[in-house]
Amino acid sequence: MNERIETIKAFHECRNFGTADNLRTAQRNVAATYRSLSPNECSTLARFAVESGKGDILAHLACLQPGSLSGLHLELAASNLLYPPVIFHGTNQQATNLLIEQLGDGEAENVNLSLLALAWADNPTVQQAFHIWRTNPPWWCESLHIPPHEYADSAGWELTDNGERRGLILNECRPLVLHDHPDAVPGAIQINAPSTSSCQWCERRMTALFDFDLSNELLAFLGVEGSRLRIETCDVCTCYGVVFTQFDWVGGASCHPANVRPEYLPDDAGDWDFPKEDALVLSSKQRPITESADRNMPISFSQVGGHPSWEQDAEYPRCPSCHHKMVFIAQLSNEDYAAAEGIYYAFVCRDCRVAATHYQQT
Ligand SMILES: [Zn+2]
Ligand SMILES: [Zn+2]
Repeated sequence: MNERIETIKAFHECRNFGTADNLRTAQRNVAATYRSLSPNECSTLARFAVESGKGDILAHLACLQPGSLSGLHLELAASNLLYPPVIFHGTNQQATNLLIEQLGDGEAENVNLSLLALAWADNPTVQQAFHIWRTNPPWWCESLHIPPHEYADSAGWELTDNGERRGLILNECRPLVLHDHPDAVPGAIQINAPSTSSCQWCERRMTALFDFDLSNELLAFLGVEGSRLRIETCDVCTCYGVVFTQFDWVGGASCHPANVRPEYLPDDAGDWDFPKEDALVLSSKQRPITESADRNMPISFSQVGGHPSWEQDAEYPRCPSCHHKMVFIAQLSNEDYAAAEGIYYAFVCRDCRVAATHYQQT
């Protein structure tokens, strides 16, 4: 095996990087090494990972080199190597059929994992199966907490009432980077800008989590017409519940009447520091939408578009106006610019001009 592959294997075998700084450096290096692999090196590494059952290497290949596992899914399904589910992104017809057969025959070792794998396979056969199972729930559904078709949102889509696929993410992704990053583009987006309005529950001043300059062509993939999109929230209250706002396309934002006060709110909200303003800017370079699909990837997670990086279960809020699931638009990870954990997520319903934010941490 060559040096790049040896570097990657050594990273995954290392259990102690010494300091947090060393770990971050090793993560940055290994992510760059994964991105630099040639198709042949990807196949060699993927073969090694399948034979030694290394799900973490398969996940890194699936996220950082999307498409590099194509041709292996039948083998993965046959040997019940289903975790993490993102490795089934782009699964072919044969492997999809096998996963469905295993469920029907009672041969699926873990129904939950088989359904997550199918959600990531995300093809017309899966849509059809989810549609049939919604109408006629099979016997193996009894042990599940949610019906099979609701697994789709873990892979960024949903099954509509008439059995069609509706995407819940944008098919392009740009990371948010520090100002001194070589790809930094100032001006296209502002994060954590102070608002002039106050939170209806804790009276804290609101924060514009994201303020997008829609005239910037790097943001054309948001697919909206207008000059400015401002997503406001209360940085404290949204840690305990979803905060909805009504926006226009020229930078206006106001509280949505459907907001429900979270059951619990902290007494000491006044003592919380406001999140650091303008710490990150848009990158001029895109990255694959799958890079952020697994929270264990060695990357920074703040971004516009792409797959959300769930710290817990997938949670796409429903628009309080039309009741459809809202589309994920951006996320801000505290660890990218502050000594803190957790991720703020932002969603929009473009038709109703409603935005939502919430927060997760491990
Ligand atoms: Zn508040
Ligand atoms: Zn709506």
